[in-house]
Amino acid sequence: MATKLLLMFAICRLIVTVGLTLDPTELLRLNLEGQLSVEPSDVESASLDFGGMRRAEPWAVLHPASTEDVARLVKAAYESSHGFTVSARGHGHSINGQAMTTNGVVIQMSGGSGERRLGLGQPIAPMVHEKFMYVDVWGGELWIDVLRFTLEYGLAPKSWTDYLYLSVGGTLSNAGISGQAFNHGPQISNVYELDVVTGKGELMTCSEEYNSELFHAVLGGLGQFGIITRARIALEPAPQMVRWIRVLYSNFSTFTHDQEYLISLHGQPDSQKFDYVEGFVIVDEGLINNWRSSFFSPRNPVKISSLNANGNGGVLYCLEITKNYVESDADTIDQELDALLKKLNFIPNSVFTTDLPYVDFLDRVHKAELKLRSKGLWDVPHPWLNMFVPKSRIEDFDKGVFKGILGNKNKTSGPILIYPMNKNKWDERTSVVTPNEDVFYLVALLRSALENGDETQTLEYMSNQNRRILRFCDDEGINVKQYLPHYTTQQEWMDHYEDRWVQFNQRKLEFDPKHILATGQRIFKPSY
Ligand code: FAD
Repeated sequence: MATKLLLMFAICRLIVTVGLTLDPTELLRLNLEGQLSVEPSDVESASLDFGGMRRAEPWAVLHPASTEDVARLVKAAYESSHGFTVSARGHGHSINGQAMTTNGVVIQMSGGSGERRLGLGQPIAPMVHEKFMYVDVWGGELWIDVLRFTLEYGLAPKSWTDYLYLSVGGTLSNAGISGQAFNHGPQISNVYELDVVTGKGELMTCSEEYNSELFHAVLGGLGQFGIITRARIALEPAPQMVRWIRVLYSNFSTFTHDQEYLISLHGQPDSQKFDYVEGFVIVDEGLINNWRSSFFSPRNPVKISSLNANGNGGVLYCLEITKNYVESDADTIDQELDALLKKLNFIPNSVFTTDLPYVDFLDRVHKAELKLRSKGLWDVPHPWLNMFVPKSRIEDFDKGVFKGILGNKNKTSGPILIYPMNKNKWDERTSVVTPNEDVFYLVALLRSALENGDETQTLEYMSNQNRRILRFCDDEGINVKQYLPHYTTQQEWMDHYEDRWVQFNQRKLEFDPKHILATGQRIFKPSY
């Protein structure tokens, strides 16, 4: 009864707010269990994202209490005579307004009252199936909570993102990558089954075996084909400890040669490969104080000038690798590591090592977040640019971008990640597009713009630089694919998907024919 009253109140305010483009009785008839809110604080937070560069106000925000709430709202939008859009919002950690909408309702998938339901009558809590090694979770669950829950069973998902305060539905709509991807593939390669509410408001269970077209469409599908309400995620026995190692290079081809060698070991027994392979570029000494590199100091201070980066345009490269272990294996781990490190050609004496519990390693970026928050440096604009670069052109990219456009003229305002992945760990039937080579690199410019920084730290400067980088790749014929892509015209999207566009468009026609879902991606315009 209280929920009904709240809903009435919300809808009355909606009428005032949106000037009646929507027939309010349509929403009243929905019998939503959750809360449809027009509270300014709810609307405000759904209008913003981590990128901090865009703002779009929805009419209202739905905090769903069940999968049925999601289905009812989408069905209402689909059948509405006036038409409105629906965007799922995970944790709002997009950069360019991908989870926003102006002409409709945002469904806030993460957070909530804890009364959500995975399906009629089923409890909301994640459910671990130890025998089959998977967990069923709500689509809005944050990965940090999935980890905490599965650890109670001594299990953990296999493939991660660097940061865990992202929702399951949000990362599965992109790919979900980190240093484990060379071995296990992205997160979308580690999902067995999904419940999805399509753009027609139908709730469908899908997997490799049933409704496989929807399953593959939704994975990496940028929210275009349905809203993920449940995901069944593959698990493995959780390691206890992590040996975390960083080594430095001044020569780019030696660095990439070693990275590529390490990821080529993916088929080897665990004892003969690392569990995580990443890397980053150091374009100036600022990185030493950077948010991802507190690791180097104070116990292991590094002076870049002492490492002979000057002969290399002032650029250094850091390989980041880890080995998981259980405490009882602490002795053998040293031997395994020695054997692996002997095969690498990093700068002698540039090895930095630390041991920490598995959870602390996985949750490492959150620690940096807390530090940045305390300095007021988290809620700033983030003009991030993520690209997949084909292996055959990574040297050209280094010359033109790291040593050219970025060079040492810039203060480092965030990490620049670079690491390779094996294409055979990605399923071509999903909606993600990657370069057409066996190995491709993620290059991620994860920079923060500062109002009071110098010229190279402003939002305008960095945004221009991002455009220059993309133009450079275009001019040089380096066929990069944006990860977490952002375009503003449909032609750019068609160029992004190339010959996969026909399939993408066909899937849209089938699963969201009125184009009401995730319009913040700016791929399709609503057609009601
Ligand atoms: P949102 O921003 O809320 O939504 C993203 C898109 O997915 C929107 O279009 C939205 O409509 C759609 N969506 C959300 N939930 C659902 C759902 N349940 N069903 C269908 N569609 C849905 N990515 C990596 O791969 N690896 C990383 O290491 C990594 N690190 C990051 C670190 C930080 C600090 C940040 C801010 C981002 C990072 N990302 C990383 C990017 C991140 O994976 C994406 O931005 C992701 O979309 C964020 O998840 P979210 O829950 O906040 O999604």
